Amino acid sequence: MFWREFPTKKAAEDTIRGIVNAQPFEVPFESSLISDLVLERHYFCSLRGLRPSRFRKLPGYNAYTFEGDFFGLPTPEPIDWHPVSWAKCLAAPLTEWDRIIRAMRDRIEPVKSRYRQVHPICEACNLRPTAEAHHSRPAFLSISDSVRSRVSDSEVSDCLAGWKWFLHDNFALPKGHRITILFDELHATATLQALCRECHNKTKRRKPQPNGD
Ligand SMILES: [Zn+2]
Repeated sequence: MFWREFPTKKAAEDTIRGIVNAQPFEVPFESSLISDLVLERHYFCSLRGLRPSRFRKLPGYNAYTFEGDFFGLPTPEPIDWHPVSWAKCLAAPLTEWDRIIRAMRDRIEPVKSRYRQVHPICEACNLRPTAEAHHSRPAFLSISDSVRSRVSDSEVSDCLAGWKWFLHDNFALPKGHRITILFDELHATATLQALCRECHNKTKRRKPQPNGD
């Protein structure tokens, strides 16, 4: 089972989309299913035990902006309506460490982006345009595994403790934290390789990690 009675992510998505699509704009509605989804799977709310009781959609970018009512809930700062993506809940990182890996990937994106700009042609086939800056040695996951093996569970929790989701949607590695320092040290030794889509696909041995998009 993917979640609850839903065998697949697609089945959950279709049901929730059906509930949301039936609602008129700007009229608050309740759905215990979506409340539970946010409580159990949202990457911030699940950590803090936050269960918005009602929702609304507002006309906005894409089809609509989706908001939950957080009034009266134990949020770090008092708020009421706040955007909360139900789609992100279905693709959420489910453990604290998944959240940190996601932040590690965000942290190195500028480095990878610069590398792609400097190496516009694939370094493996020397033919096609670069699509990805790949960690050839060590692999990204061996860097993150190595950090994990050197830190305690409480350091992992501590790393996430100061995250203010209401200000910053995505968790970023905190400055000066031991996990941040270890990651930066290890990543500085990594060798990148510019690869086209085809050559990059050949390097994939493990499935991509879950992320919040
Ligand atoms: Zn190539």
